[in-house]
Amino acid sequence: MADPDKNNSLTPATEGSIEHSWLSNPLDWPHIDRMILLVLLVMFSPVFIGGVLLVAYLVSPEWFDRSIVIALLSLYGFVFVLLLYFILAAFHRRRQKSSWPLMENIMFGSYVVIVCAGSWFTGTYYTFGALFLFFGASISSSLADIRKVRLAYLASFGALVAFIVMDSSGMFRHAPLFTRIPLHPDGSPLPVWFGVQVFITVSLTIMLYITIVTFKRWGVREDVYRKMSTVDGLTRLTNRRTFIERSEKELSSGQRRPSSHISCIMIDIDHFKAINDTYGHAAGDKVLVKIATILTEKARPTDEVGRYGGEEFAMLLPATTLAGAVKVAERQRASIANAEIIVDGNIIQVTASFGVASCPSDDIDNINELLKTADVALYEAKRAGRNRVVAAAGEK
Ligand code: GH3
Ligand code: MG
Ligand code: MG
Repeated sequence: MADPDKNNSLTPATEGSIEHSWLSNPLDWPHIDRMILLVLLVMFSPVFIGGVLLVAYLVSPEWFDRSIVIALLSLYGFVFVLLLYFILAAFHRRRQKSSWPLMENIMFGSYVVIVCAGSWFTGTYYTFGALFLFFGASISSSLADIRKVRLAYLASFGALVAFIVMDSSGMFRHAPLFTRIPLHPDGSPLPVWFGVQVFITVSLTIMLYITIVTFKRWGVREDVYRKMSTVDGLTRLTNRRTFIERSEKELSSGQRRPSSHISCIMIDIDHFKAINDTYGHAAGDKVLVKIATILTEKARPTDEVGRYGGEEFAMLLPATTLAGAVKVAERQRASIANAEIIVDGNIIQVTASFGVASCPSDDIDNINELLKTADVALYEAKRAGRNRVVAAAGEK
């Protein structure tokens, strides 16, 4: 069996790494601890439904079929004891193991049996059964193996549909738990039945709240990860991979508009190694951040500025001709050369070299060729003495 952690855990648990705060985000917990929480939630169903059934039966036994009450209470009692055993065993086991797939399987199996049995006997499969199913699956999908959630969901759903068909075909008596409909002759519900409905509504609201909070946290975490994977950690500019991806998209949409020009500027700081050697690597980092700020301050909202390598940056300028891009590059070059970057009391002056390329051009068909052409122009700027802008020839 595949390790569930591989599919669902955002922070894969390693064997033995079980220390965490029980108040922290459950998504950070090892698999076995998430299962303990989920089994506790599932255990709530037999306790809650069984408790309500028992009280209702003791208050008005004439409304219920005694043998079905006993069968249901026995089933709930059995599931409760079974899940309790697994929770206690898991607490013992979690010292050595960080996951326990068997516990997960038992939990899902119990869940399906509870939903199906409760729904069939009470005849409320279409409302409460389906709702329990939905909320249970929503909560568990954030904590458990998604394939098992899907299987449990499908199994319960299939059973519920079968009940509906059997019930409406007259094969079985509707809601066999009840000896009569729990309504007064005028159609109003019996107090105990009304109480059950209120209790179920409140419980579902609590579950809905837990679901929303869990998904919200998940969403926040997704945003953080997405951002982390697209942004350079030091300068906060778009990282190289994302820059290329976005440029590729921009280029292909530009190619659909033949008259549209797209330009690329490659930027490399001059003699950056000497800055590191003179002021230290940390000061070098601060210079990189400052250069990134200058580049983005001067860029238009539609321009993409990325950190292309160590002390190399790149800009993609949609709807810009080669001449236009050269002007932008010249402005950027002057801003960098005129900036007095103060780091730890030292005034550091830097310059950068710029290579500009543009398409449509005879030699440029894709993003790699555009970047390469700009890079060749940049190399030319370095060779010609640095702190200058060189444009590649060939724009149509
Ligand atoms: P050139 O004018 O020819 O570009 O000379 P250069 O010194 O800038 O070029 P070279 O490629 O020889 O050196 C680049 C230096 O950039 C070397 C590397 O240590 C430094 N560097 C790369 N990434 C970082 C970084 O993230 N932080 C710091 N502080 N330095 C970096
Ligand atoms: Mg370089
Ligand atoms: Mg350099």
